[in-house]
Amino acid sequence: MKSLLAGYQKFRKEIWPSDKEHFVELAKGQNPHTLVISCSDSRVDPATIFGARPGDLFVIRNVASVVPPYETNSGYHGVSAAIAFAVINLEVARVVVLGHEYCGGVTAAMSTEDLTTPFLSQWVSLLKPAIHKCGCEHGQLPVEYESIRLSLGRLMTFPFIAERVEKKGLQLLGAHFKISDGTLSVLDNKTGEFATVPEL
Ligand SMILES: [Zn+2]
Repeated sequence: MKSLLAGYQKFRKEIWPSDKEHFVELAKGQNPHTLVISCSDSRVDPATIFGARPGDLFVIRNVASVVPPYETNSGYHGVSAAIAFAVINLEVARVVVLGHEYCGGVTAAMSTEDLTTPFLSQWVSLLKPAIHKCGCEHGQLPVEYESIRLSLGRLMTFPFIAERVEKKGLQLLGAHFKISDGTLSVLDNKTGEFATVPEL
């Protein structure tokens, strides 16, 4: 806890004085332009990658950046609830599914061993269609890419998303972050392939 509080004190001393007005504005309400569905992995921080300030991004993080299927049963659909809030209430302009290199969730989904961590096996089983499509023989990277395509496809099964994509120009985008070299690739919706974003 000591290091967390030291980080907070650093924030108050170095960031708060210059950003105070920004936070005062944010206190009136949030208006993020983008919903990012990212992995919980500590090495992948959407705000850092996209150079975003507080208030810019509405972020959902879960193991392996998974969009679950659209379901209307009485389960506790935390991810779907957050997606609905961002799209319907906050009216974000785009949704980005952000996968990443060396994703432990994808590794777990590809593993043939039984997972002992509670809840995890059932959750990452949502990636099975991506694994079936790619196979495991070409390594993990193609499965990481396909998992992003799978989640984007699942987003379109949410009626309120499909409607906004078709009638209001809501954008659905896929991106993949390489931890090892800090580069981002973006899915080209026309070619279906990922291409590295050029440097400035
Ligand atoms: Zn991950």
